Amino acid sequence: MVEKNICQKCILPQEFPGITFSAEGVCNYCEEYQKEAGQEDLGSYEKQFLEFCASHKTNSEYDCLLAYSGGKDSTYTLYLLREKYGLNVLAYTFDNGFISDAAKVNIKTVTENLDADSIIFSPRIELLKAMFKNAALNDNVYSQAALMRASAICTTCINFIRYNSLKLAVEKRIPLLIFGWAPGQVDARSIILKPQPAFMKKSQDVFVNANKNYLEKYQDIYFLTAEQYSDGHGMPHFVNPLLFNEYDLGKIKAVIESLGWRNPRDTDSNSTNCLLNTFGNYMHQKKHGYNPYVQEISELIRTGIITREEGLERLEKSLDQNIIDECVRKLDIDRGSLGG
Ligand SMILES: [Zn+2]
Repeated sequence: MVEKNICQKCILPQEFPGITFSAEGVCNYCEEYQKEAGQEDLGSYEKQFLEFCASHKTNSEYDCLLAYSGGKDSTYTLYLLREKYGLNVLAYTFDNGFISDAAKVNIKTVTENLDADSIIFSPRIELLKAMFKNAALNDNVYSQAALMRASAICTTCINFIRYNSLKLAVEKRIPLLIFGWAPGQVDARSIILKPQPAFMKKSQDVFVNANKNYLEKYQDIYFLTAEQYSDGHGMPHFVNPLLFNEYDLGKIKAVIESLGWRNPRDTDSNSTNCLLNTFGNYMHQKKHGYNPYVQEISELIRTGIITREEGLERLEKSLDQNIIDECVRKLDIDRGSLGG
């Protein structure tokens, strides 16, 4: 028996939901991965994407709306959309009040250099802060399943962005809504998705409900209304191009740096745009006993994108105390309410 309480192949810890270990200390997620390996034909997804683009190409409208955080993955996605696929992109950035200054400079520089329109949406900050505080301090805002890959704070942002960008795409009649999720962050079913309005409405309601005290009175401003969901306006397709393109961190860095993107010095090792992310991870670790990035990092190790040592190092560097303190201050959280 191996005594260490993390997987010997990836780095998932024993606190991770649903985990079991073999006698050799290898987790069930790694063993499942071995079985499924090599089944995916990624080229067919790109072909499907190109066919969709060709059939929806117009000269008068945007081809796609990109949820653009300014981080390295969505920056590389913007590059692919412009340079590889030649699409007319509207880059939509959600300003949650904690985007690093360096990320803001990156957004401006890269959208200029790639000749893309940029729109930055900053919802009223007091509302966002109240939602983030609620997610940080109260348990059970989201289901355990929702929290396996992201902290509660991150889940708040991700959902806000998903439904807010969906509204923008529908109202502007943009046929594609693009996200820059990388391997390990979402599963293969999300590569190309045609969402059903009823399903989207339902999951939006779950999110609004989880944040009832904050969002109920604003939901029709930020998200599609019940009427918009039911009146037959087409939903855009959701696409994650990084999942059918080569994901080589060295190449990605070289490409985006050639576009003027610079690695922010003020964020942690897992996020290249958001400061609040660190605090979300800190609270998640405290409550659930594992870092919400450990799943993503483990998947990068399994697929050989990074080594196990690089993964461990990334995890270790992910909780910068100065950033955490700054977030606590900005959110007006009483230190005592965080517990020991
Ligand atoms: Zn494992």
